[in-house]
Amino acid sequence: MNKKVVVIGGGYGGLRAIEFLAQQSDMDVTLIDKHPYHYLQTEAYGYIAGRFDLHDVVIDLQDWCNGFKKKVTFIYDNVQSVDFEAQSVALCDGAISYDYLIIATGAKTNFFSFIEGLREHSFGVKSLHRAHNFRVEFENLLYKKLQNEETQEINLVIGGAGLSGVEVAAEMANVVEVYKKTIGSRINSVKIYLIDASETILPGMSDFLINSTHKRVEALGVNILTNAFIEKLDDNFIYFKNQEALKYHFMIFTGGIKASDLNECIDVKKNKISQFITDSMLNIAQKKNVFAIGDCVEIRDASGKILPPTAQSAERSAEYAAESIRKRIDNKTIAPFDAKVLGVFIALGGNWASGELFGVIKVKGYSAYLLKKAITYAYYLGLRLRINTGYKNRIKKP
Ligand SMILES: Cc1cc2nc3c(=O)[nH]c(=O)nc-3n(C[C@H](O)[C@H](O)[C@H](O)COP(=O)(O)OP(=O)(O)OC[C@H]3O[C@@H](n4cnc5c(N)ncnc54)[C@H](O)[C@@H]3O)c2cc1C
Repeated sequence: MNKKVVVIGGGYGGLRAIEFLAQQSDMDVTLIDKHPYHYLQTEAYGYIAGRFDLHDVVIDLQDWCNGFKKKVTFIYDNVQSVDFEAQSVALCDGAISYDYLIIATGAKTNFFSFIEGLREHSFGVKSLHRAHNFRVEFENLLYKKLQNEETQEINLVIGGAGLSGVEVAAEMANVVEVYKKTIGSRINSVKIYLIDASETILPGMSDFLINSTHKRVEALGVNILTNAFIEKLDDNFIYFKNQEALKYHFMIFTGGIKASDLNECIDVKKNKISQFITDSMLNIAQKKNVFAIGDCVEIRDASGKILPPTAQSAERSAEYAAESIRKRIDNKTIAPFDAKVLGVFIALGGNWASGELFGVIKVKGYSAYLLKKAITYAYYLGLRLRINTGYKNRIKKP
């Protein structure tokens, strides 16, 4: 009898795992997601700034599943909990049993509760609806500026200067630059601030990435505030620990993540941000048939350093988990997961990026942008080919 393999979460990790699993003739594969779409978070910076459209950042999961030769079942539902003993996943609508399970439910923005007013007064980019809400506000602002309906100085603040924060700040500053050349000086009064509590932007990244990004973001006119601890926000001001305050109109918070809500409902070892702590083979709950991958897990490299949550790690851990399921069924030995960062590319507004590959190749400017674009395009093209087949299959059998 075929093995039932269930994947929870159709993000970067979940989809990569299914690409492998769907090729196995002795497995019945099911994907569950609480959204009907896959959201390309790595492109969120371009979506909120109006550079990309909705169809550039989402893919319909049902059509994507229909695009496989073999049947891949898609269930659009919010997983409530997992019973490891009964090997069953509880949904809002019923339950589904499994022989092998991959949990790939990602993470959400961590609107720290110790910063008063943060959740109420800021937008996030990790979920499509929050990113979309901000995009609408930003577009309205540009429209009002064009109509001379909004004449005061507008401060847009990005809290958190990690990978996503710098990408968002740079793209928005670039859009403002573009508008200056078209709708003119009215837009000069839109100011962008990038704020971080650390000493530098991109804390933990290499000197090359920090310095090249800093220069680029500054050249785009972004005001960078480091060592800036946000204590509180009200309707009009951001208050810092050093008693200073900054008037703001929109705040996007990219300063931290927390594992998805499902982690809260699963009683296994977790870190401070609720990510699962797995064994060296990405298993949780001492169950060799349950894997947790991507942003919902704390991933450490061979030296014990915690790796930043990236699509790259999600995909590498997904490949490992999917191949491990194959090996377990075939009674083959499985080596521990070898976590490492192969490269980082940061989109920094317009046709400019900064990146590093294998820690030795360092590129910035247009060439880095082309490399970043090629990586993103390869990913997007893979999804599009699958979804085109799925779409054709669906209209053939309505
Ligand atoms: C602006 C921005 C820029 C970024 N840039 C880069 C970059 O350049 N390079 C890079 O490598 N990474 C980048 N990242 C990080 C990257 O997007 C994440 O690390 C990646 O999305 C993690 O993949 P994942 O599969 O673990 O989770 P996700 O992609 O978040 O997917 C999780 C899925 O699980 C589903 N889900 C959650 N809970 C449930 C539930 N209870 N039931 C059912 N379904 C559920 C969600 O709906 C979602 O579809 C960026 C992130 C942002 C926000």
